[in-house]
Amino acid sequence: MAETDIKAPPLREYPCIPMLVPGAMAGVKPYVANEKVQEEIGFPGKLVDDWHERALAKMGELLGKYRSLKVFMDACVHCGACADKCQYFLGSGDPKNMPVARQDLMRSVYRRHFTLAGKLFPSLVGARELTREVLDEWYSYYHQCSECRRCSVFCPYGIDTAEVTMAAREILDSVGYGQKYSNEIIAKVHKIGNNLGLPGPALENTLEGLEEDIKEDTGIDVRYPLDVKGAEVLLVTPSADFFAEPHIESLIGYGKVFHAAGISWTLSTKASEAGNFGMFIGNYEQLRKIALRVREAALDLGVKRIVVGECGHAWRVAYAFWNTLTGIGAGAGLAKSDPFAIQLQSQLDHRYRQPMHICEFTWDLIQKGAISFDREANDHRVVTFHDSCNVARASRMGDSPGGQFEIPRAIIRACANHYVEMAPGTTHEQTFCCGGGGGLLTDDLLDLRIKGALPRMEALREVADEQGVNFMATICAICKAQFTKVLPYYGFNMSMVGGVHQLVSTAIKLGDK
Ligand code: SF4
Ligand code: SF4
Repeated sequence: MAETDIKAPPLREYPCIPMLVPGAMAGVKPYVANEKVQEEIGFPGKLVDDWHERALAKMGELLGKYRSLKVFMDACVHCGACADKCQYFLGSGDPKNMPVARQDLMRSVYRRHFTLAGKLFPSLVGARELTREVLDEWYSYYHQCSECRRCSVFCPYGIDTAEVTMAAREILDSVGYGQKYSNEIIAKVHKIGNNLGLPGPALENTLEGLEEDIKEDTGIDVRYPLDVKGAEVLLVTPSADFFAEPHIESLIGYGKVFHAAGISWTLSTKASEAGNFGMFIGNYEQLRKIALRVREAALDLGVKRIVVGECGHAWRVAYAFWNTLTGIGAGAGLAKSDPFAIQLQSQLDHRYRQPMHICEFTWDLIQKGAISFDREANDHRVVTFHDSCNVARASRMGDSPGGQFEIPRAIIRACANHYVEMAPGTTHEQTFCCGGGGGLLTDDLLDLRIKGALPRMEALREVADEQGVNFMATICAICKAQFTKVLPYYGFNMSMVGGVHQLVSTAIKLGDK
């Protein structure tokens, strides 16, 4: 379907449970990865002949390795509390996009092959054989889940559909049925260093161009250093920040913060990507290999601190997994056994949290009075904040519970006079995914992305109409790219989305350090 033929569903008053439209999204699926890409990252090039045996063997391996997956397969009582909580169900009405139904795609196969009742009386316990049709259904509906974890907030047993989706994608990859978009990006990171495939010289050019633009705008020499050995801080940020709009406005903001506070910093060509699509495909080896680039860069450059830019899933990986993947982080899980982790731990400055989110970094400087703002510079904006799912439900920030909600809002309030919250039930822990997370930010899934954005668009429409909101801030590169694309389908201007550090950039007072 051509992009111009895709129509957004009509906005409704929130909350609204849609009419069921069975099969509405049955034909929706992303492009399958080609042989070259699959093999480059260590998976079979195409669907293997013995896919049935291999898929079940992989499933057995994952059930043994991840206790949570086995609990999730067994514990669901079909209470229905999660049924109307997924943005893809709310936007499409397809009952298979209810989280419980999405889990059941795998649970039915689990029952057939891994439970006694399912082996003896399959039809009595809803057990299904893993047929080619079922495998195709997995490919379709496990790529209609952004792994946002919203459903798990409402499940009385804490069942996390995101983990089920990750397991399904890992099984699909293991039999040669991988997704083009995510796997191409992973291959690009291994080869070039970032999701966008920007080589070192292109990064250098971009950063030089930024320095010239800022000098022209402000008269001040704000630096965007690359690969500087001995810098205090290594900033690891999504590669979209180097290139895409509005992402680059936040990169400009980070540089101004470092400049105003007088702290030396550097970006790195080796660690020119904070994102880690290894998590989206549920594959530990890819997750670790990508994360290790950051450790290598930190060791090469001899930095004392590692700060992560505005990217939701990158912060989840850094906050929750870097510890055991790389030895960066609280408790430094690997530090006792891995010589590189030991070396890094002796190098990093333990007076600071490691890793640190750029919002924690900026908020700390605000509280210390090291940076200040001309808030009136943002007076043309009435700002609201979209909590990004991976930050909201899979990480924290700062020293207090809920810091991941409060710190970005505190920064916005420090640099803008007009701030408005969207409706309760659509923010904080219960925020909706933007619709493009979890490896779905590809144009072959545009129809799904537009439908998945519906609940957020409804909440935004309310504050735009009633309170004049004209800027939605967020701290995720995927949210920024997704909203830029889908806002016009809902009658909004694409430029009304931007980063928290875009607001910082507009209002920060630049000293002459
Ligand atoms: S997209 Fe989010 S709410 Fe929907 S099933 Fe997946 S994890 Fe649950
Ligand atoms: S809320 Fe939990 S127990 Fe209830 S149907 Fe959903 S996954 Fe199953």
